[in-house]
Amino acid sequence: AATTHTRGTAEYRALDAAHHLHPFSDMGTLNQIGSRVIVKANGVYLWDSDGNRIIDGMAGLWCVNVGYGRQELADAAYRQMRELSYYNTFFKTTHPPVIELSALLADLAPEPFNHFFYCNSGSEGNDTVLRIVHRYWATQGRPDKKYVISRRNAYHGSTIAGATLGGMDYMHEQMPAKVDHIVHIGQPYFYGEAPADMTPEAFGLARARELEAKILELGAENVAAFIGEPFQGAGGVIFPPSSYWPEIERICRKYDVLLVADEVIGGFGRTGEWFAHRYFGVSPDLMTLAKGLTSGYVPMGAVAIHDRIARALIDNGEFNHGLTYSGHPVAAAVAIANLKLLRDEGIVERVRHEAGPYFQRCLREAFDGHPIVGEVVGAGLVAGLQLAEDPRARKRFADGAEVGLLCRDFCFNGNLIMRATGDRMVLSPPLVVTHDEIDEIVAKAKTAIDATA
Ligand code: PLP
Repeated sequence: AATTHTRGTAEYRALDAAHHLHPFSDMGTLNQIGSRVIVKANGVYLWDSDGNRIIDGMAGLWCVNVGYGRQELADAAYRQMRELSYYNTFFKTTHPPVIELSALLADLAPEPFNHFFYCNSGSEGNDTVLRIVHRYWATQGRPDKKYVISRRNAYHGSTIAGATLGGMDYMHEQMPAKVDHIVHIGQPYFYGEAPADMTPEAFGLARARELEAKILELGAENVAAFIGEPFQGAGGVIFPPSSYWPEIERICRKYDVLLVADEVIGGFGRTGEWFAHRYFGVSPDLMTLAKGLTSGYVPMGAVAIHDRIARALIDNGEFNHGLTYSGHPVAAAVAIANLKLLRDEGIVERVRHEAGPYFQRCLREAFDGHPIVGEVVGAGLVAGLQLAEDPRARKRFADGAEVGLLCRDFCFNGNLIMRATGDRMVLSPPLVVTHDEIDEIVAKAKTAIDATA
């Protein structure tokens, strides 16, 4: 087959350095080293322009759930581009792909989710969530319910609203402006933040009750919603103690505060459930979706809206929000093909019953008791490894972020993509990863972490 890459590595690097600014990158340093040029991918493997084969332990950016290179998705895009390449749904129009996708999502999502609003990314999804939340409370005659509560070290995107919802200070260092009425409470990060004498369950309850304290401080009549990733992804794959989410849900219900699950990473099978909030046994009012919705083949995000909220939006006139590409027909066609693969090939069930348990077991066998690994957490095909100077004493490295980057580079040089978020190494491979490929990921991760020690 014809390839799309026609130049050599040096030439690509020179052009990249001359014309391309990368996201979240120190371009001065990167241009000196030169980026690795990724030219093709299939299944769980990437190839660079020098012909090296790299195993992708991150599914791109936690998104390539069905793996790379699926013909079905390419065909869906091709057919749709020829049939109806673009049309919008703003002015009394709609089109088959967005209709079919919405019906399919209603079928796959848990019961009260029957309406979907589309955008292009997770960040835009969370912007949309803010608009829906405000609109909903206004329609209920409670416009004072404006505050949205999030957690520190959460990641909800890089738009101004997404970054404000997120709880990462560095997202504001170069752009201090924030959206009003967004406040933060502590994160349920047991390893990093629990007092030495506290059990995980007690810590989970304590962190959840910070929500109640914050609601009481602001006045429940002023609080619109709480937003959280079921497990924090970009924050380091932080799995809350099992006591955490039920208590959060109880508090939200008690004070009439909407519960928003940001399922951008957790959605579409990552934990072995279709949606990660199911893994934690709670029922949100809104879900932010992106990434696995199209397995990253084309950009698309969405918000899943509980019937009660959808009713309020439908019955109260115009909702002033939309994007040129809301419900883009090509993205919708690809999403449909992707969701059918996830469903019809039993990919999510395989994560729950086979690949997930195997992955979790292999990681624990490789790293339990390792001299610089403090904990291995995760479920399904997502995991976080805590790097620690003295694992048993829960003592973290003073220069943990640097240790993490060193480890990530050892992985990269060993042709494994594993990401470092501070002093936690994270893995999130495509959901189609085989047992042999899991063995390869774990062996390469072990070599890299041994080298880091
Ligand atoms: N929400 C979560 C939980 C995410 O992990 C991300 C991205 O990683 C986003 C939102 C933002 O999505 P996007 O990068 O598509 O805007």
